[in-house]
Amino acid sequence: MLATLALSLAAAGTAAALPVVAIDPGHGGGDSGAVGVLAPGTITGLEPRFNQQLQPILLEKDVNLDVANRLNAWLVARGFPTLMTRTADNAGGDVPYTGVSADLKARTDLANGRLAEVFVSIHQNSASSPLATGTETYVKVGAPEPTQVLASGIQRTLVACLGLPDRGVKERSFYVLRNTAMPAVLVEGGFLSSATDVALLAQPDFRQKMAEAIGAGVFQYAGLGDPGPICAGGSVPPPPKPKAIALARAGKALTQRAGINPRRGDLWIATVRDDAGRVMASVPVRARLPNGKGVAASSRPDGKVLLAVPRRKGNLVVSVAMPGVKVAARAAVPARTR
Ligand SMILES: [Zn+2]
Repeated sequence: MLATLALSLAAAGTAAALPVVAIDPGHGGGDSGAVGVLAPGTITGLEPRFNQQLQPILLEKDVNLDVANRLNAWLVARGFPTLMTRTADNAGGDVPYTGVSADLKARTDLANGRLAEVFVSIHQNSASSPLATGTETYVKVGAPEPTQVLASGIQRTLVACLGLPDRGVKERSFYVLRNTAMPAVLVEGGFLSSATDVALLAQPDFRQKMAEAIGAGVFQYAGLGDPGPICAGGSVPPPPKPKAIALARAGKALTQRAGINPRRGDLWIATVRDDAGRVMASVPVRARLPNGKGVAASSRPDGKVLLAVPRRKGNLVVSVAMPGVKVAARAAVPARTR
């Protein structure tokens, strides 16, 4: 009772300052998204679905909506203004599904029209290899620093809560990331094509963990600090403490593989490590290039950030983009390098 009162008082006191969060459950209606096959008798807590062989299946659109509803409840309980791009088995805007372009446009139009300040699209993955497993978070190509910080935070809490392999923060030109006017991320919680992931995604408790992990990432992004116990009593992992960045010019082979024109630029590698010297994933960083341009990125699961650096004499400065963390590296970029 007391806890409830305290929570609602806190929510009332801070509601005005909290960002509007657009929650986007991927797919819906005639677009089921990825499909996973379940063991006979699996209880999902969702509408039972079967394939033509009468095996129980799990549809991505159902998982996404369930996680979205749970995330919405979690955020609303903490005073966040939210909007859902669909609330039923429909296309974006809660209209019957007609086609992918109308569906996606309705989603981004809603978020842009309602002046959302955070956009989280919820999806589950699929791959041709049944061995593919894990969690990844996408941002648009060349996403600015706030988006990288949001994505890194959500990816970190998801990996901590779900316990699946960390596939990192990745850049991809998805429609909903490209056409939203606010920091936007797309979460791929787990793989419906993986026997282990799909068994977890079928569990309501696991979907609740996914919702709370995303919620905790948004909570921290909003500058609210520790959200308290999440993920069935576990606490949010403390923000990482990066202690060092090392800068190195990448070899020619890697430069070419990354598609960098050797006349125009060069590939550099920034490696983020903690105080024990271990590489650190999902750390947001910013770089100042010799031409004065700023770029933002997140470290990959191997701790590395790849930077395309124009071949111009000057300084390359890379720093960790986390509040209260002062870790940077600087390198002199020669005009011509071989
Ligand atoms: Zn999807």
